[in-house]
Amino acid sequence: MTETEKAPAKTKKDTALPEATMKSPVGEMTILPEQLLDIIREARKGPPEEEEAKLRARTQRERSGQMLGEQLVKADALKESVQNACSHMKTNGYGQEVGSAVHGQIHSDNMYHGFCIRCFKEFDPIRGDLVPGAGGKVGGASFS
Ligand SMILES: [Zn+2]
Repeated sequence: MTETEKAPAKTKKDTALPEATMKSPVGEMTILPEQLLDIIREARKGPPEEEEAKLRARTQRERSGQMLGEQLVKADALKESVQNACSHMKTNGYGQEVGSAVHGQIHSDNMYHGFCIRCFKEFDPIRGDLVPGAGGKVGGASFS
């Protein structure tokens, strides 16, 4: 026995689905796997108007998803421009700045997580023991 006889090369036909054989009143007929899949696909389809409704619904879903994505991009851009324009300062009734609008607290990572109460910008965390008024304790009071 030679090397090529021991391990015959696998062809596409080895991995493909086997042919189906059906007996019918007119005799035996062979159906190729591809033909069988086509028959199954056709059998699964509903009436034409139902298929049309499914297609319409899918198109509408795709359109609304695309619109939602565009809205989110716009909302992110608006949020960024508002945060860039914010002074992160509190103002009194006369428009005068009276103190920082940054509030936050020390989390369990001992870092102070601050955010602006006017524009909701979240700042990078800083060491909690460096923040005056926070007391260096987890859940320590915010400062302003
Ligand atoms: Zn702000």
